[in-house]
Amino acid sequence: MKTMVTFLATMALAVTVAHADGLRILYLSKSSGFQHSVVATQKGQPSHSDKVLTEVARRMGATITCTKDAGLVNAENLKNYDLVIFYTTGDLTRPGNQDQGTVMAGDGVSDLLTWLKQGGGFMGFHAATDTFHETRPGQPTPYIRMIGAEFRTHGAAFEGILDVVDTAHPAMAHFKDGWKIRDEWYLFKNMNRENMHVLALLNPGDHGSVDTKYDIPAYPIVWCMSYGKGRVYFNGMGHFEDVWSNGDFQQVVADAITWTTGKGQLDAAPNYDTTVPGDKPMAGAAGASSTK
Ligand SMILES: [Zn+2]
Repeated sequence: MKTMVTFLATMALAVTVAHADGLRILYLSKSSGFQHSVVATQKGQPSHSDKVLTEVARRMGATITCTKDAGLVNAENLKNYDLVIFYTTGDLTRPGNQDQGTVMAGDGVSDLLTWLKQGGGFMGFHAATDTFHETRPGQPTPYIRMIGAEFRTHGAAFEGILDVVDTAHPAMAHFKDGWKIRDEWYLFKNMNRENMHVLALLNPGDHGSVDTKYDIPAYPIVWCMSYGKGRVYFNGMGHFEDVWSNGDFQQVVADAITWTTGKGQLDAAPNYDTTVPGDKPMAGAAGASSTK
């Protein structure tokens, strides 16, 4: 075992040196809560999002491990990766009844956060905010502080409009301002307003829904943050297979992988107007659009 540890440590060092190519990605899609169809595996075949991310990684010359084994998120194994991607639900230290994935150890989250602080990269999509919920109202877990917000609710899917706040950001290189796409749009609580750098807002527009949940101003749906020496990126999109199959979305994912793994300007200074009460971003985020 000791030999193995030394070997892994050496590998991690080698990757740090040769960072330009050969990124190594860990994609975790364990559902301890609700399981989305895009992460469901059938008869041992990769899920839809597994297939898409594997193809995106291949185009980038990266290698990817797609797994439902949350036990792989531990200090020793994280040394083997440059980037961890979550599309998860629930308390990952508990099995749930949606998949057979191994649970995360009790110190898995703290291992992840320590690794991130030391220069790792973390990306979350959609349900990643529906993971490690607060145990007391208004007291977000360390995981939620890191990812930037916690899933609160959603209504019926509709075609939303994505208003880009920071068009100059490297992670937004190919993200179309005013992009209209049908998805299931999460609404959040426990937003880490003090630390997030908002990249795009979901503008419900004329959402055509009878659901008054979305009769609100545009709100953050894509953002990033720095976390120690690490980088964090969250994108609320990705409920539907169609979104993952969308070539523009795949390009957005590739750009985000590039940024999150340390390439390009950091540009993650908080740009959210915390003087506006509640989780309504608007004034600050709109102000930040002066970079347009
Ligand atoms: Zn969903």
